[in-house]
Parts: sequence; C-alpha cells; structure tokens
Amino acid sequence: MDASSPLSLPRTVALVGLMGAGKSAIGKRLALRLGLPFIDADDEIERAAGCSIAEIFEKYGEADFRAGERRVIARLLDLTPHILSTGGGAYLHPETRALMRAKAVTVWLRAELDVLFDRVRRRGHRPLLRQGASREGKGTGMSAPTSDTARTIRVDLAGRGYDIAIGPGLIDRAGELSRPLLAAPRVTIVSDQTVALLYGARLAASFDKAGVRTTSITVPAGEGSKEFDAFGRLLGDLLDRRPDRKTTLVALGGGAYLHPETRALMRAKAVTVWLRAELDVLFDRVRRRGHRPLLRQGELLAGYAEVAKYGLVDQPEFFAWCEKNGADLLAGDPAKRTYAIEQSCLAKARIVAADERETTDLRALLNLGHTFAHALEAETGFGPDLLHGEAVGAGMAMAFDLSARLGLCPPADAERVRRHLGAVGLPVRLRSIGGDNRRRWDAQRLIGHMRGDKKAEGGKLAFILARGIGKAFVSRDVDEGALGALLDDAIAA
Ligand SMILES: [Zn+2]
Repeated sequence: MDASSPLSLPRTVALVGLMGAGKSAIGKRLALRLGLPFIDADDEIERAAGCSIAEIFEKYGEADFRAGERRVIARLLDLTPHILSTGGGAYLHPETRALMRAKAVTVWLRAELDVLFDRVRRRGHRPLLRQGASREGKGTGMSAPTSDTARTIRVDLAGRGYDIAIGPGLIDRAGELSRPLLAAPRVTIVSDQTVALLYGARLAASFDKAGVRTTSITVPAGEGSKEFDAFGRLLGDLLDRRPDRKTTLVALGGGAYLHPETRALMRAKAVTVWLRAELDVLFDRVRRRGHRPLLRQGELLAGYAEVAKYGLVDQPEFFAWCEKNGADLLAGDPAKRTYAIEQSCLAKARIVAADERETTDLRALLNLGHTFAHALEAETGFGPDLLHGEAVGAGMAMAFDLSARLGLCPPADAERVRRHLGAVGLPVRLRSIGGDNRRRWDAQRLIGHMRGDKKAEGGKLAFILARGIGKAFVSRDVDEGALGALLDDAIAA
C-alpha cells in the first residue's frame, strides 16, 4: 500500500484470506481510516447471481462459481480505488490472481488454520471448507467400513420401526445402504449450512455412486433453523424442487429437522433417512486437528456431554463406563467412540419408543441440564463462547447440585457428576465460561431466561432433577429461593 499518501491511493487494496481470517473486520476499519469504500466481493457475487454463494455452489458447482467470481472481481478492480475483500479461493484461481496482481495491491491475511476453523464453525455460509478440501486433503476422513464394523440398532415403533446403522465412515455408504428403502432413485437432502459444508459433497457422492439422483436444500445453521420462518422457507424450497410421493427426504445432520412440523411432514410424505452426522462431524474435526491436546476441543466435548447425559438420566452403569473411558474416547479411541454412540442411540431409541408422542415424562428426561443450559446460552448470546453441549454439561452439573441442595440426591453423586464432567474439560464452573472470566453473571437474569424457556409451564419452572446418578425425574415444583441460592453459589464459586 502506498503509505505516503493513503488518500490518493493509486490502486485498490485487495485483502485476501480464507474464511475467518478477518477480511471484513480489517477491511472495514481500513476503509474507514482511509475514507475509501469497502466492497466485499462475496456480497457482490451474491448480488450478481441473485442467490447465496452456497446456492451457486450447489446449483452450478465450483467451476461456474469461480468463473462468476472472476467476472465480478474484474469488474470491481476497474472501479476507483477502494478496499476489496476476496476469498482465498479467488486468489488461487490463476486468472483472478493475474488480474489482482495487475490491478491491485494484494494483502494476504494469514491466520492459523485452527483459528480459522473455530471462527467459521458457526458461520458456514460458504462451501469452501468442504470435506477433504480444508486440511490435510482427501483421505483424512474415516476409512470405508467393512460390513463387520458397522452395527445396526433396531428401533421398534408400532408399525414403522427403523434401523440405526452405526460405524466409522458410513456416510460414504449411505447411498448403497438406503437405496433399497427408496421408492424411487431420487432424494432431496436437507441439511444445515455447517453440516452441508463438511459432509454434503460426500453424502451426495455416495448417492451418485448408488445411482440415486440428489437435490439439496440448506437451511441456516444453529438454533434459528428451528424457528417458524426457517421452516416456512424450507417448505418453499422443498416445493420448488417438485417432490412427488416417491421422493425421499434425507436429513443430514441434526438440528435443522427437529422442528415438529418438519418431522410430521417427513413422516407423512416421505421415507426419512436420518443421518446423524453430528458425532462424526465432531470426531472428524478433532481428528483433523491432529490430536493436539491444547487445542480447543469444545465441539467434541459438546457432543460428549450429550452422550454422558444418557448415563445420568437412567443408566448409572453407562455413566460409570464414561467415568472410566471418557478420556480415551475423547482422545479418539475408535472402539470406545463406537460403543458410546451405540449406547446413545440405544438409549434414545428405547426412550423414544416408550414415549413416542411425548405423552409421559420419559422423553422429557432427555432435557436433563437443558433449562440451565438455555439460560447460560441466552446469557452468552448463543455464541461461540459456549456451545450448546458445553452448556448442557454445565447445566447437568447444576441440576445435580440443585437436587443435592434440595435433599433429593446424595451429595456424593452430585460431586461425581461435577468431577467427571470437569475432568474431561467441560466448563462446569461458570467462571470458566467465555474464556476471559470477566463475565458478570446474575442469578435473577438467569432465572429470567429460564422463565422465557418453553418448558416453563404456568409460571412454575420445570426442571429435570435426580435422586442420584441414573435416577432423573421431572420436577415442576422447584423452590425459586433454592434455585436463586444455587445460582448465587455457582456464580461465586
Ligand atoms: Zn441438547
């Protein structure tokens, strides 16, 4: 950059970097400083195409996207000097690079891959971190399973039971395994942006291989996708693809499809193949980090909290197994990982089969720790400071503490829960949440969030409490004084 006279910048300054490198943040500040316009090439591309980059990728593939990107960048480079932000992929394209060399001062923003990965974890609007493309390249994923490493669990629901297949790398066989279930060789894959980014291409390839035609729909990542708006858009997208009675919806990943209406629709209109990618995603991500123990393992831990939950709800022996094997599992032991996923699926299958329509309290027990968790998440803005599963870990420790405080649960059990979850690295202490320890927690504000929670019926707060490890139950009569005292102590601890 011409430092002597920034205001008469002879050329555009193009900031190049991978997702999460800080191009927008730095670019906007720089533009403000220099009194120049800031332009984000990605925004321009979306405007030109009239759809999101994810959609361009989906509909036309990467080659077409790059061609469009090059045209847009060429046009932008002919404008008066400004600050331009472009993705790393653009720069890797030789023609685009040549253009930028000729017409701009290019600044490459570097950041550690792990930092980038953490930053984009929740964004996922752009399919550049595709499986295999991001880190060590292809072949780092789990190997294709042989039939003996895959296990199947039967979920018995009257008239329409289903099988859950568990095994490393099964996603590559999803097409082959589900082909016999399909009424016609066409599926619509529904996924959220984060999961689509990591696994969409791989899943589509597996259907291709099995001779099944795929279209896909991507919904925003995270909690928001459960909202009604997102559901409305999903329905619209589905109808755009003109499904018929023989089209099968394939749900890739978890969160997006939990909306009860979506579930009902899927049950009514389609054979639903539910691919639970979450744990795979977690393990794969951590695996790619090369087992460096000091790196943030938040995502893996978040998944683990929900696994350990099954032990705390009604399987004390599984919690004991977790205490013994949790560390190995988190370090990547494949046999223990498979066992834990299998136990989670078995437990969920058992509970769902016994309480399919949520008419008893049984299914509600799966919300152990969640009332606390939602309050903590609300307070941290549902942001990267605290992942849902991490919040659940903290919430379960608090639920057991509250149970002990109310004289319902032996204090030694509450202590075991706190010790184990803390030992594997979950943030069971409020002051360990958010990194800098400077957050001001407030018991009344947390209770306020709990009141806003959908499980607060008729003014009384509903909690999942426990009479001991593996003895969870629903309580709709928790004394607010005791709750406030518990929160005050947790904040002071
Ligand atoms: Zn949860």
